[in-house]
Amino acid sequence: MRYGLKGRVAIVTAASRGIGLGVARVLGREGMRLIISSRDRERLAEAQRELRGEGIEVETVVADITVRSDVRRIVDVAVGRYGTVDVLVYNTGPPKPGTFMELSDEDWEYGVRLLLMSAIWITRDVVDHMIRKRSGNIIYITSSTLKQPIPSLTLSNVVRLSIAGLVKTLAHQLGPYNIRVNGILQGYVDTERLREVASDRARREGKAVDQVLLELASQIPIGRLGRPEDVGELAAFLASDTASYISGSLIGIDGGMVLCL
Ligand code: NAD
Repeated sequence: MRYGLKGRVAIVTAASRGIGLGVARVLGREGMRLIISSRDRERLAEAQRELRGEGIEVETVVADITVRSDVRRIVDVAVGRYGTVDVLVYNTGPPKPGTFMELSDEDWEYGVRLLLMSAIWITRDVVDHMIRKRSGNIIYITSSTLKQPIPSLTLSNVVRLSIAGLVKTLAHQLGPYNIRVNGILQGYVDTERLREVASDRARREGKAVDQVLLELASQIPIGRLGRPEDVGELAAFLASDTASYISGSLIGIDGGMVLCL
């Protein structure tokens, strides 16, 4: 345990697999007590078993992050179980892909609930507790699309930008309460979701999935896709007192892929 996080309480949302689970694994290995949530009951239970198998203290909440009452339950369960929340790591499910002309009004409304309203809801709930105890840490997992849009991911390119505004605004408003707020902008991370996207592209382009994954990796100067635990390591650092002067920052983790500042 490297970051002095032992015994602190973290919520990680959308964490039954992929990046969220990788973050939970790293925070749990650092001795944090966890609440993980997802809408996928079975995979969430599987994730809990896996983490508990490593000796990690973890409770679960089945919650669809696009539903206000579900989101409220995540924080209620955390406070009920552990009496406090020290760290919120906000993650969501992926938005529907598509160009602007392919997306309907309903897609946009759902995308805004998935990528923005869920962040506002859970932040509002958790910040009440953090302000009362004059300490806290909020980390939003977003995407490299904040800096470098991907043409087929219109919802991500557009709606996620608002999280940058949220990070800056909250860092300013909550800093006086000793609450730090930051965002993580990850590039390609090797998850089931990325493999689903790759296999879709492979089918359309008549290629093997591994070929498509190699092509993605070849766009990355470091020469490999990210691992969910790479994002977890950054989250653990940001959550720790080692990062006590970092707030209002949007930090890329993409193997050098994003070229703009
Ligand atoms: P994933 O599909 O592997 O995992 C998504 C998780 O979110 C799962 O636990 C799933 O159950 C949960 N989830 C989905 N919809 C939900 C909902 N409505 N309510 C509650 N839980 C829900 O995805 P991932 O690759 O780990 O990506 C996580 C996030 O990071 C996504 O928003 C994705 O768009 C973004 N992202 C991923 C990459 C990548 O390369 N993997 C890159 C940039 C951004």
